[in-house]
Amino acid sequence: MTSRPLWFDDLQALMPTAVVTQEAVIAPHLEESRGRFQGACGAFVQPQTVDQVQRLMRFCADRQIPIVPQGGNTGHVGGAVGRADGVLLSLSKLNKIRAVDPIGGTMTVDAGCILQTVQQEADRHDLLFPLSLASEGSCQIGGTLATNAGGVHVVKYGTMRDLVLGLEVVLADGRIVDGLSALAKDNTGYDLKHLFMGSEGTLGVITGAVLKLSQKPTARETALFSCESMDHMLSVFHLFRRHFGDGIEAFEMMPRFGIDLALRHTEGARDPLDHEHAWYGLVDVVAYGPTSDLTDRLMGALTVAIEQGWVKDGVCAQNLTQAQAWWALREGMSAAQKKEGGSVKHDIALPIAQVPAFMTAAAALVLSLCPTARLCTFGHVGDGNIHYNITQPVDMDRAAFMALGAEITPALYDLVASYGGTFSAEHGVGRIKRTELAAYRGGQAYSVMQQIKAQLDPQGIMNPEVLF
Ligand SMILES: Cc1cc2nc3c(=O)[nH]c(=O)nc-3n(C[C@H](O)[C@H](O)[C@H](O)COP(=O)(O)OP(=O)(O)OC[C@H]3O[C@@H](n4cnc5c(N)ncnc54)[C@H](O)[C@@H]3O)c2cc1C
Repeated sequence: MTSRPLWFDDLQALMPTAVVTQEAVIAPHLEESRGRFQGACGAFVQPQTVDQVQRLMRFCADRQIPIVPQGGNTGHVGGAVGRADGVLLSLSKLNKIRAVDPIGGTMTVDAGCILQTVQQEADRHDLLFPLSLASEGSCQIGGTLATNAGGVHVVKYGTMRDLVLGLEVVLADGRIVDGLSALAKDNTGYDLKHLFMGSEGTLGVITGAVLKLSQKPTARETALFSCESMDHMLSVFHLFRRHFGDGIEAFEMMPRFGIDLALRHTEGARDPLDHEHAWYGLVDVVAYGPTSDLTDRLMGALTVAIEQGWVKDGVCAQNLTQAQAWWALREGMSAAQKKEGGSVKHDIALPIAQVPAFMTAAAALVLSLCPTARLCTFGHVGDGNIHYNITQPVDMDRAAFMALGAEITPALYDLVASYGGTFSAEHGVGRIKRTELAAYRGGQAYSVMQQIKAQLDPQGIMNPEVLF
């Protein structure tokens, strides 16, 4: 915070305990995870109650002050970057677990609760909150709702949209939409909560949520296997679907190049199989009930896949340590890629059946534009979400590669669209992909979104540079 705006003293007088002035506390909230933006703020506010959020919103509405809601600040698209002329509204202190209903399988929380805290609280009640992201130690429930976060368990449990029953939201004018319903069925007109999921702080501030909890599986097994093509990877997925139904908890894929990067840059990492292969699959399957033959069933499914020629080599984890080591390879892929030089990243999703054809076409496209590009394409193939990342060639400097990336990205997004896919699967639009939102959600969908925005935030004070 450099110079204070004229309204600062009035705001501080209105809510002295919520306006924070210590630079050391504020500084981390002005950083952006990928270093693409420099945050700022006219005032940094950390309300502890919903009432304080409401008073803040009324204050800002009266003076047309921009507000940027911020959760854990782990988002990848610059959506939580504060502005010098506005309020950076951190939800971190609004972080109570309000209630747990083990019979109904619900938990009511403040929006500022850390995802991991919610997972641990569910576990304490012998239940499961299944959203799982590598950022779960920092990201908040409000942020995961506002971005409709996904992660590794979407194949079984869906995205955040599927894990919430009710929302409490403070609108731009200070009105509260109290939708903290725990009902599984409630057909009373428009389901307003869905408006706010994926709204990225542009329609209101999410202050509370009723979350859906799941039963904890009593058995979980992990397998790692290799394939020579994405066609074979998809055949394995289809086979596993038939064997395990909804028992597939995660189905991830990694390229050999990604494994190489993880081995090179992750301490203690080991090659998971004896020989190198083009693609690696990592799957978790689960079962419920007092007894389980899950290990045998997993071995059986892998054996069929090997007999069919879809899997070249495959192993079931001998213990939790081995399973965790494989997951560390997968989770460490982004960090390993960072250490290898510049990256041009795309968070795309495709109809699952289109993934193999798309991957072939995309590789040809990228290599035609940058023949020495190194493809590090990994992700949640079980739900069609690929992190189509491209690593700086060894023979090209970073700046030249990043400039070329600016040409590759639009061509790749056009290709994604031609396969019926999306340019933003789970990270959102933020400040970074506004042009793409207008281009690919054009026509009536885009203009209806603009109308909703104008209706709920007529002064345009909610996260003004995000989405539109
Ligand atoms: C290592 C790592 C791994 C990740 N893996 C995944 C992954 O697998 N899947 C995935 O989906 N994402 C992933 N992400 C991205 C990120 O963690 C998620 O998007 C997460 O949901 C953001 O939560 P947050 O609390 O940090 O939100 P922030 O980054 O603080 O904010 C994100 C957006 O939500 C808005 N917002 C935040 N809180 C509120 C609120 N209470 N009310 C209204 N608007 C609000 C902000 O204005 C902003 O537009 C990952 C990030 C990292 C760093």
